[in-house]
Amino acid sequence: MDPVGVAAAAPETGPGPAWQSKCPWGAPKNVVISCSLADVMSEQLAKELQLEEEKVAFPEVVTVAEGPFITGENTDTSSDLMLAQMLQMEFDREYDAQLRREEKKFNGDSKVSISFENYRKVHPYEDSDSSEDEVDWQDTRHDPYRADKPTTTPKKGFIGKGKEITTKHDEVVCGRKNTARMENFGPDFQVGDGIGMDLKLSNQVFNALKQHAYSEERRSARLHEKKEHSTAEKAVDPKTRLILYKMVNAGILETITGCISTGKESVVFHAYGGKTGVDDKAVPPECALKVFKTTLNEFKNRDKYIKDDYRFKDRFSKLNPRKVIRMWAEKEMHNLTRMQKAGIPCPEVVMLKKHILVMSFIGQDQVPAPKLKEVKLNSEDMKKAYYQILHMMQQLYKECSLVHADLSEYNMLWHDGKVWLIDVSQSVEPTHPHGLEFLFRDCRNVSQFFQKGGVSEAPNERELFNAVSGLNIAADNEVDFLAEIEALEKMNEDHVQKHGKKTSPFSSDGDPPIIYNE
Ligand code: ADP
Ligand code: MN
Repeated sequence: MDPVGVAAAAPETGPGPAWQSKCPWGAPKNVVISCSLADVMSEQLAKELQLEEEKVAFPEVVTVAEGPFITGENTDTSSDLMLAQMLQMEFDREYDAQLRREEKKFNGDSKVSISFENYRKVHPYEDSDSSEDEVDWQDTRHDPYRADKPTTTPKKGFIGKGKEITTKHDEVVCGRKNTARMENFGPDFQVGDGIGMDLKLSNQVFNALKQHAYSEERRSARLHEKKEHSTAEKAVDPKTRLILYKMVNAGILETITGCISTGKESVVFHAYGGKTGVDDKAVPPECALKVFKTTLNEFKNRDKYIKDDYRFKDRFSKLNPRKVIRMWAEKEMHNLTRMQKAGIPCPEVVMLKKHILVMSFIGQDQVPAPKLKEVKLNSEDMKKAYYQILHMMQQLYKECSLVHADLSEYNMLWHDGKVWLIDVSQSVEPTHPHGLEFLFRDCRNVSQFFQKGGVSEAPNERELFNAVSGLNIAADNEVDFLAEIEALEKMNEDHVQKHGKKTSPFSSDGDPPIIYNE
């Protein structure tokens, strides 16, 4: 499988600079066309000029193409797509700039202006994301790319005074206006070059054209949508590819080998670590890249984890959905860091870039460690695993001040004779308004798994809950137990309301409240 397109390879021969022959629209090789000397001369000249120009215009592209992607005998041409996308982005931006100039010229000093916003190539969303080292969280209140308020013809329907008056129905004015309005058709719509002339288009002709332009546009929008959807499914949209590509280019990663897992909310890739460390730390020899999906649907029902997490509370309401998704990646990073500090076996964070989390790979030689669900443990290992998990849950709760919130045999890997915890993007603090309920659910999963697995020492979920949290909830049935949990959560909420955040009254024996310093 080659989801990021970095493994495809094709031999490369022929003269000329490497990048030229790599360009999809580069000159075809070994094609002999008979033509006059003059033609050849002028073509060569044209090509030379073009090369000159491109060298100046796209220096980055050139260096990128010569980057470490092209290694050894496996000369890699898969960056072509990336290059094409980067170039396309450049062209689109240029087009937009031109469009803006035309918009300005078109509107002039007129009180009535027409916005060309809808015909921009680069969607404001993409554009706002274009700078990669931007600080993601601070700039969300003001959206500089928001479309101007559309203006309309004045209600009175005429301009001028007294004899000079011209109504909006005036034939000449109307005709000229119609001609000018042709520019408002989609950019792909051919309207000829009559725009510069003093053409007067009758309403009838204009309306027919408009109709046609719209239906054309809708058709192309549908196609576009389809394309977008299929890439989103793999979570590797052009932007993600670009980030991954840059990681390889920067030497942080050596190669991205393939996809380990495609989940609802994320796609995980395997990669070999590169030689360039991050923050003075060497990159692990094998890495896992968790790419959080930028399609939004799946995340809607996860709001509850993050919305009530006070750590993210202030930000949540102001963010656009794309940034909320990055917050999941950020959350996973913070949670893993806490766990690492407490010595809980879990992936080590290498770096976070937007919605992509790079961490150490649990497994070997591209084979991820099996989930507890998949591995067949003997009874001794099973027992060992249980006690280890009990200990990890306690550490997680007490030392990291976290509740996993999705703990089950699917998110525990068996590697090196022990259990590793993964998938902590949804983990919350115990003081989260539903934190204890999440903990109870985790306990139920763990308890059931080990009881079914024949570990006689494994207690039921209520006992496990008390053992992990240090609470003494006495109820002997689930309904009452959950009622008490909810009462505690409610009490905590009230406490938070009164005394501010970051404290917890959970402790039954008068211990100081849990305060976590990161
Ligand atoms: P999801 O939200 O899709 O469940 P996970 O973090 O659980 O995301 O990752 C999905 C799968 O990818 C895991 O079940 C595991 O097999 C694999 N995986 C994730 N992280 C790692 C890692 N650091 N090392 C090895 N495999 C991993
Ligand atoms: Mn998972």
